[in-house]
Amino acid sequence: MEEELHHRDHTGVQDFVLLEDFTNPDAFMENLKKRFHEDLIYTYIGSVLVSVNPYHELDIYNEKFIDSYRNVNFYELPPHVFAIADASYRSMRGENRDQCILISGESGAGKTEASKKILQYIAATSTHSKNVEVIRDRLLQSNPLLEAFGNAKTNRNDNSSRFGKYMDIQFDYKGAPIGGHIINYLLEKSRVVHQAEGERNFHIFYQLLEGATPVVLSQLKLENSSEKYYYLNQGHSNSLTSIDDRANWRAVQHALDVCNFSNQEQKDLFAIVAAVLHLGNVTFSGEDGGPATITNVEPVVVISQLLGCEEETLLLALQHRTIEAKGDRVMSPLTLDQALYARDALAKGVYDRLFTWIVTKVNDSLNSRKKQKHSLMGLLDIYGFEIFQVNCFEQFSINYCNEKLQQLFIELTLKSEQEEYQREGIEWEPVQYFNNKIICDLIEGKPSGIIAVLDEECLRPGDATDETFLEKLTTTIGKHPHFVSHATTDNTTRKTIGRDEFRMKHYAGDVTYNIKGFLDKNNDLLFRDLKEAMSKTKNIITSQCFPVKELDSKKRPDTAGTQFKASLTRLMEILVSKEPSYVRCIKPNDFKRAGQFDERIVMHQIKYLGLMENLRVRRAGFAYRRPYEVFFKRYKSLCPLTWPCYQGLPKEGVKEIVTHLHYKPEDFKMGKTKLFIRFPRVLFATEDAFQLR
Ligand code: ADP
Ligand code: MG
Repeated sequence: MEEELHHRDHTGVQDFVLLEDFTNPDAFMENLKKRFHEDLIYTYIGSVLVSVNPYHELDIYNEKFIDSYRNVNFYELPPHVFAIADASYRSMRGENRDQCILISGESGAGKTEASKKILQYIAATSTHSKNVEVIRDRLLQSNPLLEAFGNAKTNRNDNSSRFGKYMDIQFDYKGAPIGGHIINYLLEKSRVVHQAEGERNFHIFYQLLEGATPVVLSQLKLENSSEKYYYLNQGHSNSLTSIDDRANWRAVQHALDVCNFSNQEQKDLFAIVAAVLHLGNVTFSGEDGGPATITNVEPVVVISQLLGCEEETLLLALQHRTIEAKGDRVMSPLTLDQALYARDALAKGVYDRLFTWIVTKVNDSLNSRKKQKHSLMGLLDIYGFEIFQVNCFEQFSINYCNEKLQQLFIELTLKSEQEEYQREGIEWEPVQYFNNKIICDLIEGKPSGIIAVLDEECLRPGDATDETFLEKLTTTIGKHPHFVSHATTDNTTRKTIGRDEFRMKHYAGDVTYNIKGFLDKNNDLLFRDLKEAMSKTKNIITSQCFPVKELDSKKRPDTAGTQFKASLTRLMEILVSKEPSYVRCIKPNDFKRAGQFDERIVMHQIKYLGLMENLRVRRAGFAYRRPYEVFFKRYKSLCPLTWPCYQGLPKEGVKEIVTHLHYKPEDFKMGKTKLFIRFPRVLFATEDAFQLR
């Protein structure tokens, strides 16, 4: 940092708090851009790391770098994701506080890469023993495994994570990793049955077709041709140059072994993957409104063999549903629409539960049964704010998640600032900021939050539709300052809102949601007959994933929205008890291209990552804070009373220096162990004097 104070003109400042005009987003972006073009992809806002995806390999993650960041004070080396990992690890060990590192940013911004680098750093840092090595391998191998099943090629990112992930690493008292636990959030299961143009299904399907031996493929009744499968051929984008499906298949095989999946489990696992592909090829015919009939029985026969269930049961369940009326059970044939819906719902349900089952298995293998865990470090890699051309229930959920994280961020940042002032014995000056709790309440509040209203419509028997849901929203919360319906005019933007839309004023900006599918997706209905068929399978995974007790339960399962809300509440509880660090990732362009910095899209992200707000909070107090020893060591030569020889304490010496340099009382404060300087210009003047001496 000190070195860089001198070089600030060429490469910008490496900490945004040193920007003179800290309220100006253009200055912020200019700094980011300057650095990006020098391949300096990391910049701090205080202790928050901002990272811009370089889209090409940088030689800054090797052993040498790992070594140089180990046990070094945060500000002594250029900003780096290793510095965040090291500071977090040392704080965990030194102060015995559980840590969490929160990584955010939009798809393709580099979140998952950052989390892998942190894991790499932690794995390289901790001590060696046989037991530790086993766990460390499993922690590392869990990545390619979950990525195979949970990542896909999208138009934004060739390896896009389609689920949220929180991972706890457990350490013993010596700081060695002895276990871990992963929580997965909201897999984008609609991708199993449908992909947008240019996108792919989850990697594992292609890996299986490309990588498995002919023998295995013939056992699974599959052909090495993804074009043959309806669930794979909708995006017309199956040959993907940047990803080697065959190599990744081998990596997955290895990961499954390392993570302790038995041979039988692996067999059953891929039987399910194959069954999903066959399911997609089941076709129906039927007159408008009349009963649907399966036109090709072969795939159903194969599925029943793969999963180990009665062919008849499955055929029946794909074409009928049982309705209970006054104690009687009646078989009612499905219409064509219903049958297609049921088929896709089964594919999505099976895959989604399979994914969670895999996470559970990985957790078993990471479980530290014997040793006492001493402290934790959590890593959160979760979808960032999404504003698309058309925004649906998925975007609504993701943006809700980001509101919650923003709220936590504000609370924790202010709290940690406040704590530091307290520790240092400096008077706290309250900071003005926008508290987005009002938006969280609008979404999750009871009885009239959006999720509650949606649930009410989902549970209402009769004629509830997406439209009646929107109507009800408008009557209950139409006047809320962060909600705009087509019935009211949005005077601030004047953008029109369609009759099937509502708009929310999120902390990160306005998002217009289309209500189509809200009820269906929230209901997330899988007909009982199909669940029952799955519960009776011989395949150990499907039978475990569809337990009989779920069928026996009289209670209606929670809606998707309510389940997600509960999982976010638990996540917040986990995070709030830990000391946070932040990595904010930015995508420089929409083309996955190196060296291209698109100001428009970067500016957009600066806004919705809340970076300006973040900087404001940080700068509301002091731009610069350093232990007395550090400041003294660098600048002692600027004052005749401390140079060339000085006997006193660093704090006393610093007092001599700032007095000699005529610091004004409002420019700085002296805490117990640190000097706080309010404005960067004061610091720069000092640094310039140092350079000129
Ligand atoms: P996200 O998880 O935010 O969607 P990823 O971490 O998957 O994004 O990054 C997308 C792609 O960008 C990666 O596959 C990689 O090619 C590239 N990338 C991301 N971070 C880096 C980095 N630090 N260095 C080089 N390339 C990177
Ligand atoms: Mg990712």
